[in-house]
Amino acid sequence: MTPVRSAVAGVRLKRTVCLVIVATLAVGSAAPAADPPPKAQRLDAAKVRIVLFCPNGVRPPVDYQSGLDRLADYTDAFILSGLKRWGHEPGVKSLFVRVDENGRPTDDGTGSVEVLGVIGEHGVDRYTKPDTHKEAVASAMRHFDLPAKGDLWWVLVYHGDPPTRFSDFRGGNSPQFGGWSIANYDSRLPRLRKTMPICAGLGDEMALKGMVHELGHAFGLPHIGPKAAPRRRHDNTLMGPNNFNYKRVAGRAVQNGHLSEASAAMLAVHPVVRGVPLSEWNLPTVKVADLALRPTATGNGFALAGTVRAVGAKPINAVLGDHPDSLPGEYWAKHYVAPVGDDGRFELPVTEAAESDGELRLWFTFPGGETTGNGRWRGANGAVKIPYRYADGRWTKAE
Ligand SMILES: [Zn+2]
Repeated sequence: MTPVRSAVAGVRLKRTVCLVIVATLAVGSAAPAADPPPKAQRLDAAKVRIVLFCPNGVRPPVDYQSGLDRLADYTDAFILSGLKRWGHEPGVKSLFVRVDENGRPTDDGTGSVEVLGVIGEHGVDRYTKPDTHKEAVASAMRHFDLPAKGDLWWVLVYHGDPPTRFSDFRGGNSPQFGGWSIANYDSRLPRLRKTMPICAGLGDEMALKGMVHELGHAFGLPHIGPKAAPRRRHDNTLMGPNNFNYKRVAGRAVQNGHLSEASAAMLAVHPVVRGVPLSEWNLPTVKVADLALRPTATGNGFALAGTVRAVGAKPINAVLGDHPDSLPGEYWAKHYVAPVGDDGRFELPVTEAAESDGELRLWFTFPGGETTGNGRWRGANGAVKIPYRYADGRWTKAE
């Protein structure tokens, strides 16, 4: 059976540990015990690598391959169709390493997702914090002989069936490799279907948005809140607040979630989405000038205009986060995207401005996948910060 072969590929571990998992899998399958496990795929292009991490003494659910296939299918559909909705054509059919029934990699989005099974050296109590990802990723790289290239690592920790769970979800960039994220493996994942809403029902019970949200951080995405337009109300962003906080602030439960325009602009240039190796990630030298706040033509909010010059790369889009002081939290910061002209000029309309002082955070996307505003740090961490004041119906730059 395909899932089992692929799953067995994921447990080339220390001999004793490996035997435990193979024996567990064999209960639900007819896989011959003598079948040599295929190796983890070595690919040039950067990919999202899934690690199923079980503390010592915890057996993975027999149907975990099905659960992770459903999760990968769901995530591909959510992110890749979200990109297309904003006019970006992804260079890949899947973000993940997928293999056919013979364990060979596919590049058409079909096949089972490759699962790298890792057993922790310690019991459950030692793996309740996000730094669990360090052992999980290092162990997977070592056991599967994978180089520290620009892959993104999605570590799913299995502590047991609900309500037992790993609850400290987190994600971020990594200086050693592309990025990392960690979340809970929920044994209800085999019931996930692509048509299910990410924020409601089973998705809510499994914290599905949280799982994909953390992967978003591995891609370098910051928190990006929902806008009123053009979406329907109560449609949250992937990088927005979690379901609990959405309800607390918005006054009612959220149903759906979507990929925001700013997330799409950043993901569109990422090597994993373009299907290319992660290059050096040397950030370009960026110089921003002539920044000015202007009234918009429609009278809604204001616009930030300016010019940008970069050495070694031409900026594609300007991305702007609006952080008014009245914001209920950074998860709610609305973001705006505008193209950078050949002359370096850009104009970003902030159409849903709040009537308060605040700070704008500005950065740019580049064809090689870099995102920065100051050339020193990536993404929103490398933003140019522009404080502003609000008085008498006008927003002005604070000097
Ligand atoms: Zn987050």
